[in-house]
Amino acid sequence: MFYKYVIVGAGLAGLTMAERIANELNEKVLIIEKRNHIGGNVYDSYNEDGILIHNYGPHIFHTNDQGVYDYLSKFTKWNDFWHRVLSYVDGNLVPMPITVETINKLYNLNLDCSEVEDFLKKQAVEIADIKTSKDVALSKVGKDIYEKIFESYTRKQWGIDPSELDTSVISRIPIRLNRDTRYFADRYQGMPAHGYAKLCENMVTNKNIKIMLNTDYQEIMKDITYDTLIYTGSTDEYYQYKHGRLSYRSVNFIFETYDTEKFQEAPVVNYPNDYDYTRITEYKQLTWQQHKKTTIGKEFPCAEGEPYYPFPTKDCKAQFALYEEEMKKEEKVIFLGRLAEYRYYNMDAVVRRALDTFNQMINVNR
Ligand code: FAD
Ligand code: UDP
Repeated sequence: MFYKYVIVGAGLAGLTMAERIANELNEKVLIIEKRNHIGGNVYDSYNEDGILIHNYGPHIFHTNDQGVYDYLSKFTKWNDFWHRVLSYVDGNLVPMPITVETINKLYNLNLDCSEVEDFLKKQAVEIADIKTSKDVALSKVGKDIYEKIFESYTRKQWGIDPSELDTSVISRIPIRLNRDTRYFADRYQGMPAHGYAKLCENMVTNKNIKIMLNTDYQEIMKDITYDTLIYTGSTDEYYQYKHGRLSYRSVNFIFETYDTEKFQEAPVVNYPNDYDYTRITEYKQLTWQQHKKTTIGKEFPCAEGEPYYPFPTKDCKAQFALYEEEMKKEEKVIFLGRLAEYRYYNMDAVVRRALDTFNQMINVNR
């Protein structure tokens, strides 16, 4: 079977490329997806009680990139949604990320913004050369807050100490010297009004797009020829693990439904120091669905399972660099997305990468 364009993976990276190829170039494109649905990890669905859940963990759209926001807005309306997270520390629920309220609640104080700045300066550990996630946290908030909020959560999430993780991990969490308790400060934030699966379906309505679900590319690759392959699966799998298996962190999502309208005080509650799970999401608080019951999702990070998070350590990056050398030699294959590029991309970043990759691709072919 020949297709000019073949895409492996129907996550946001693959779907964005397919949409652009079909609508902008008016070319036929084949998407091969091993799961039984499109959307990749942003997929959502109604559970047996009729409550909308995010099957692969809570997804909140946020971006400062107007181009990405405008692009996705062609396929969905948005519910205005400001994400909020509380963290269960020393028996209290405190706002995450760290704000003036967090410090006051943690230490039973009543400081104003500039007093909190002074407080944190006194706590902060001076580190000349910041190399790890532990250094990032210690240099911003000091040892006590590091231990209360970051150390055990990060160990649970990644299975290793923050001193072994590169700076990018804990740097995702801002420290705010104000009272802004939103989890993200981006200009555009929201939830797709009819869910992510619907958004994704709306991206691929063009008849030029053919989708094969339940199909692993590895199993059919011999039967498919193409001019361009856009590959969004794992790179190590593509190269038959010739430089070894890349490490990913996985998560076991356990869903529980309760016969009560509301389960917890915020859409997400983090448990840095208690229990084996990292956080609990109450889905109705993300989607605003009205229902007599409520469904929560607990996240148990683990080593084995679906590859969700590329591992941000020095050794893993060095191993991926070996694959990058192979990737550079490919003339007909474009590697794109969280798995293929082995990068901790958010949704907006992946869509931006796909839009830019499409523009580069058509400029080269022109
Ligand atoms: P994926 O969504 O992983 O898509 C890749 C697809 O390729 C998958 O469907 C897979 O089945 C398929 N595939 C792989 N190998 C093969 C093969 N051999 N044959 C056929 N198909 C194959 N981002 C945010 O912006 N906000 C959030 O709140 C947020 N929360 C997250 C929470 C969790 C728990 C996780 C794991 C991620 C979160 N993200 C969030 C990130 C977001 O999920 C990603 O940015 C996005 O899904 C990446 O899209 P992708 O297309 O690169 O990869
Ligand atoms: N983190 C933490 N304590 C928290 C929340 C996050 O230590 O209460 C650390 C942890 O290492 C995590 C990283 O910050 O992996 C990034 O958090 P984020 O909420 O962005 O994680 P994601 O939603 O991508 O899982």
